[in-house]
Amino acid sequence: MSQIVAVVGRPNVGKSTLFNKLIGDRVSIVNNEPGVTRDRLYREVKWLDKKFTLVDTGGLEPRNNEFMMSKIREQAKVAIDEANVIIFVVDGKVGITGLDEEIAEILRKKDKKVIVAVNKIDNYMKEKDNILEFYALGFYDVVAISAEHKVNLGDMLDLVVEKFEDNKFKTIDEGLKIAVLGRPNAGKSSLVNKILNKERNIVSDIAGTTRDSIDSQFMYNGMPYTIIDTAGIRKKSKIDDNVEYYSILRAIKAINRADVCVLMLDVNELLTEQDKKVAGLIYEAKKPIIIAINKWDMLEKTNNSVKEYTEKVKAEIPFLAYAPVITISALNGKRVNEILDLADKIINEYSKKISTGVLNQVLSDMIAQNPVPTRKGRAVKINYATQVGIEPPKFVFFSNNPELIHFSYARYIENKLREYFGFDGSPIEIVFNKKN
Ligand code: GDP
Ligand code: GDP
Repeated sequence: MSQIVAVVGRPNVGKSTLFNKLIGDRVSIVNNEPGVTRDRLYREVKWLDKKFTLVDTGGLEPRNNEFMMSKIREQAKVAIDEANVIIFVVDGKVGITGLDEEIAEILRKKDKKVIVAVNKIDNYMKEKDNILEFYALGFYDVVAISAEHKVNLGDMLDLVVEKFEDNKFKTIDEGLKIAVLGRPNAGKSSLVNKILNKERNIVSDIAGTTRDSIDSQFMYNGMPYTIIDTAGIRKKSKIDDNVEYYSILRAIKAINRADVCVLMLDVNELLTEQDKKVAGLIYEAKKPIIIAINKWDMLEKTNNSVKEYTEKVKAEIPFLAYAPVITISALNGKRVNEILDLADKIINEYSKKISTGVLNQVLSDMIAQNPVPTRKGRAVKINYATQVGIEPPKFVFFSNNPELIHFSYARYIENKLREYFGFDGSPIEIVFNKKN
């Protein structure tokens, strides 16, 4: 489960610099998929074996001094609500300022895990004692860094990942966790209510980690499920001008916690920019996905409607071609239970392991049907494949010249794997490694 780490601090302490160094060069490679919207405010970061979502609050700073403090306060509040761990950046050359103290107080009031990163300690041996005064801010973990020169960032990240909650030892069995996502008015609350009303053995309502999202547990066919409702997102957004930012943070959080994501669309207004953005987030998080076209009752249907609408959706978000599309009516309950059945099905696809023997038989079929193209006059061979991971399924293909395999051939392989083995609703990863 990915955790959220927020970088917080007053202007000019080096938050953006730190953010950029931590995300490194990977950004440009990670996602060039058409339709996946990039946003500079958050990125996936991996440290050792731990992945987390890093949030930069720097982009929210007003240029106008008058609103500075209220904005910073607001920014810190978002971080408090959403983050699992906070990196509180201060300036080691300047020392503690009044603004630092105000931010510290906001952070202290809530019970949050905070790491104070004393930045601009460019010459560690000479300046490391500068950090001592920052213990006065009242946090236990204080670390000297230089964002610009990448000094001590590893030590800082060690502290960050140490603070992640270990979710392995839950006492309550939450069962399969399903997040319902979509823009306001798509029908998320209606769907959640329908599911909960139909399933009368509701186990309990657990207040979510943010006050706007409520997790509901229920039993279906004798199995526990948890539904993560994000409908509250818009209510808070109304009060400020960073609507996009808040709703995206909340969506990321719900996606990260979910086992399966349901993206709800409104048949009257199929894919808005906001829908595409959320679709991109689910794709990037590599989570299983179901697309539900809601308000199907409102459509004048023909025999061809399901096909027609499914194709429309797939054309708009081609990177999610593997997502099953289901047409529903949250209002009258039509096919609502099918969403739960589909969720069960795709979580199995997500955890499926193909035996190496079968995989290599399929590999020889694939190559026989469509040989790997020769490139730059050099023969390219794929000798062997094996599945090295699940959730999502990950495959390694060994080749004499892996760098010469074109992405279109990788896509061919992906399509073939799906044709043979399914993996409906599940992302899959394909990697080429060198082996003669
Ligand atoms: P933000 O407003 O907190 O996002 O701060 P920025 O990342 O924009 O940085 C503010 C200034 O501090 C810029 O001029 C940076 O080049 C500088 N800065 C950031 N990190 C370091 C550092 O480690 N050492 C030094 N000497 N300057 C830094
Ligand atoms: P949310 O903002 O995504 O939680 O959306 P709501 O569940 O509050 O629904 C927004 C509006 O759409 C409400 O007026 C619902 O009654 C209506 N609605 C939701 N689902 C359906 C549906 O399947 N069919 C019809 N006709 N209306 C629906």
